[in-house]
Formats: sequence, structure tokens, C-alpha cells
Amino acid sequence: MYKNSIIYIAGHKGMVGNAIWRTLNAKGYTNLVGASSKDLDLRNQKAVMDFIQKTKPDVIIDAAAKVGGILANKNFPYQFLMENMQIQNNLIDIAHRSAVEKFIFLGSSCIYPKLAPQPLKEEYLLTAPLEPTNEWYALAKISGVKACEAIRKQFEKDFVSLMPTNLYGTHDNFDLNSSHVLPAMIRKFHEAKQNNNAVVVLWGTGTPLREFLFVDDMAAAVVFALENQLPDYLYNVGTGQDLSIKELAAMVQKIVGHTGEIIWDDTKPDGTPRKLMNVSKMNAIGWKHQVNLEDGIQKTYTWFLENIQNFK
Ligand code: GDP
Repeated sequence: MYKNSIIYIAGHKGMVGNAIWRTLNAKGYTNLVGASSKDLDLRNQKAVMDFIQKTKPDVIIDAAAKVGGILANKNFPYQFLMENMQIQNNLIDIAHRSAVEKFIFLGSSCIYPKLAPQPLKEEYLLTAPLEPTNEWYALAKISGVKACEAIRKQFEKDFVSLMPTNLYGTHDNFDLNSSHVLPAMIRKFHEAKQNNNAVVVLWGTGTPLREFLFVDDMAAAVVFALENQLPDYLYNVGTGQDLSIKELAAMVQKIVGHTGEIIWDDTKPDGTPRKLMNVSKMNAIGWKHQVNLEDGIQKTYTWFLENIQNFK
């Protein structure tokens, strides 16, 4: 339906945007538009307006955000709140005021309350307080979901939000100060293996439970949302399966081939105790994940090795 439409992927240089770009390209979508953050500052309303007027997209996929792991969120609350609101407000409002027919907004499972029942259903949004380590990012994303819902309600436009669980994969961020847990583990185990199987220090207690989705599966969910008019405003995207951070560590350690000791540094935060998505709403309309966790970690580790010269 949108094969020949102009599709602007905001954030196409990031892990998620890159996967969406690759997937659409492979499916024969030829009119993809993107701009790197050097060429377009999405926090700047006028710059975004000029870009949209020039490129005239029919569809916007908003995969642009300031993202980071548990420590980055804790250290930079203002940037996580404000920059994410600026980016999404510019894109959503300009999309609404121009000829954009479809808008797909991406967020994260941290929009749900810290102690919500698990697995997380879409209807738990705004029913209790958020997890303090990432409430800034979460608040920004909740306001994006609500802005798209309001446009959908008031103007009957096809604006829809997809909330992925923790994503990982090729083009991930492997910087140990700002990355999420999975790329951090790949890097730490790899470097320790090279260093005579030195001790690996991981954060927290290892008891929190997390769910992980390979980024190509997320891209497939976005394509699904593009090709089908989804009947509701908010959908979870995940595998519906979780494991403890300790179990994840054992899996990554085995795949990387590190045989040394692991130490848990419990002066670092654990974050929310569990974050498992209920994905039955998305499954019921026809999308399901394809890549299992071990295969996804293996693919990510292979990509890490191929690109290791780029990591400082
Ligand atoms: P979260 O899902 O928002 O909590 O973000 P993360 O992916 O950063 O962290 C998930 C869990 O992994 C938390 O309990 C962290 O304490 C734990 N963890 C263990 N080792 C690491 C590490 O080296 N880096 C990161 N980012 N998290 C780690």
C-alpha cells in the first residue's frame, strides 16, 4: 500500500532505524528518506519543519530518541525528558499539520508502572508510579503515545504507537557508560576473554528479570504496522519470554567463550524488578517474533567482532 510512498525514517542511523531501513529496502520500498543528526537537529522545530516541507513524506516512522542504559538515564534526567519531548513533539505536530498520512511512534516498555502486574498489558499505562531510574525517558514517551492517541481520536488519523521491550542487535551501542545490558555484556566478556579470561564485573544483583527482542524482529513489527491499519492506538512488541540478568550473563558468557569469574557490583542499580511484555494483542493481529535469544546474541556478537575497530 505504501510501496511507492515517501517514507521518512527519523533516527535511521540508530540501531532500530537502521534495521527498519534495511527491512523496508529489502521489501522493495524505494522512497526512503533519512537525515543524520549532523544534517538535521530534530530538537529544532524550524529545522524539522523545513525538512518535512522539502521532503514531503507520506509516512513518518519515529525511531529517533535519546536513549541509554540505566546509568545514563540516572545521570542525565533533564536531557532524557526534554530532548525526547522536543524530538517527538516536532515530528508529531508537523506530521499532523502537513500531509503525512501515517505516523508510527516508537517507545519502550519502561512507559509502564514499576510495579504493574506482569506480563505488562497495554491497559496498565498510567495506573501507578514509574520506575525512578528511567521515569524521565518514560514520561517523554508516554506524552508521545498520548499525543498520537489524541490525534487519532480527534482527527481520525492513522497515528499508532509501538512499545518494544529491551531491544538488541547489530548497530547497537557498545559504549560501557551508556549502553544497555546486552551489548555491555558482549563487550565485557569479549575483552575479558582476550585478557586471559579476566574477571568480569556486572552491575546490580543479577536477579532482575528482562525480556529481549532482536532488532530485526522489531523492524518486522514496524513493517507490519505500516502495511496494516492497526485497530488500536498502542501495541506492545516483544517475545513474551524473560530471563534473569544472571541467566543472561551465563548465556552471553558461553556464546563469547569467556571462562573466567563474574562479580556482581551491587552498588550499581538493579532497576525495575521485572519488565515482561504481554504481546497477545500484537500476536492476535498477525505479528510474532522469529529470532530466538541465543541466535540473536550470536548474530550480535558476530557483528560486534566485524566492527570492533570502530569501538573506543
Ligand atoms: P533497564 O532494562 O532499563 O534496567 O536497563 P539496562 O539494560 O541498562 O539494565 C538491565 C539490568 O542489567 C539492570 O539490572 C542492570 O543493573 C543490569 N546490568 C548488569 N550488568 C550491566 C552492565 O554492564 N551494563 C548495564 N547497562 N546493565 C547491567
